[in-house]
Amino acid sequence: MKTFNKSFNKSFTQQEAIDEAGIAAAVKVMQSGRLHRYNREADELSETDLLEKEFAHSLGVDYALACASGGYALAVALRAVGVEKGDKVLCNAFTLSPVPGAIHSTGGTAVLVEMDDSLCIDLDDLERQAQQSNAGYLLLSHMRGHIVDMERVMAIAKAHQLTVIEDCAHTMGATWDSQPSGTFGDVACFSTQTYKHINSGEGGLLTTPHAEIMAKAIIYSGSYMFFQEHKAAPPLSAFEGLYELIPNCSGRMDNLRAAILRPQLATMNQRREDWNARYHTIEAQLQQNPHIHLPSRCDKEQFVGSSIQFRLPEFSREQLLQVVEQCQQHGVMLKWFGEEKPKGYTSQYTDWAYLGIERELSQTTHLLSTLLDIRIPLTFSLSDCKLIGEIISNIVREIHDG
Ligand SMILES: *Cc1c(COP(=O)(O)O)cnc(C)c1O
Repeated sequence: MKTFNKSFNKSFTQQEAIDEAGIAAAVKVMQSGRLHRYNREADELSETDLLEKEFAHSLGVDYALACASGGYALAVALRAVGVEKGDKVLCNAFTLSPVPGAIHSTGGTAVLVEMDDSLCIDLDDLERQAQQSNAGYLLLSHMRGHIVDMERVMAIAKAHQLTVIEDCAHTMGATWDSQPSGTFGDVACFSTQTYKHINSGEGGLLTTPHAEIMAKAIIYSGSYMFFQEHKAAPPLSAFEGLYELIPNCSGRMDNLRAAILRPQLATMNQRREDWNARYHTIEAQLQQNPHIHLPSRCDKEQFVGSSIQFRLPEFSREQLLQVVEQCQQHGVMLKWFGEEKPKGYTSQYTDWAYLGIERELSQTTHLLSTLLDIRIPLTFSLSDCKLIGEIISNIVREIHDG
């Protein structure tokens, strides 16, 4: 017997409109006709130059590079730190498919690491895998915005001499112990794809404090001989001798996207507050149901709640399927990471057969089998979020009680 009849009717994939400032800046770029980042007048800084400067400043790093996508930024980062064919790259088993895809594109071999019940990389398994694989690199995904103990991860990296690349697709605007996510490792990559924290349709940003890595990344991104014109870049001397050695793997950002992004970046702190108010509203509803397990989060983590995850550890697959279906009937779109077949954006490490992973990551498989996820677009109001939380909590209760 169903007792709960409220429904939700907004789209979980509807982001906010581009703000007026972004639209005006984009129109200006179109009117100029100078959409290519290197197509500028002598005394002009292009929108892409300005975005890079402002993004670097926002993180307190010297160097930033804007490029075509987050996944592209990851591939360039891996190449720029020296990953070559056959090199082993440690990486979260719980991540999104562009991450193993980027490793594969460099010829590197992914060594997957288990997740733990806080949805972060399992640091004990990381230590074990680092030891056993002798890998030189760690591509660390802050998947769904969950930030692992960065002190410990960097200590492990130091002990095993790992170069660390942070995948910050879900942590733009987040900090750990007051330090911006993306400033712990050697390189960080961000995405500006529509469902991330700033929206230009597609786009990526790469940051690093290392001059040589940035010089290489800029050349890889397709700078031709304009690398000396970058404004968030190392001095010319850093590029010396590199130009002939680094291929142009064309993947630049254009001025139109940069123009759309700059006003959004400028309001990141407000956006974080807006997301977190929504996150905590849903969380407060879910917390009232003892069958719903929310992952623990460290006090040092100041996250951006653009999505929320929870587990139903006591539920069978059949019950989980019922939860997903009934929530859908009430207008709430849950993603279930335990789905047999990949669906939408959701996939599991077992779906990436091309990686040739032989090890069974049973802990990750077990956790994913009861893990659910919802997006929280800023087009949802706080009362929308309360309703979403109520719907989920009630359906979970009804299905549990049979
Ligand atoms: C979206 C995403 C990426 C890649 O971003 P794109 O800009 O879509 O290529 C990388 N890692 C994670 C975890 C993501 O969610």
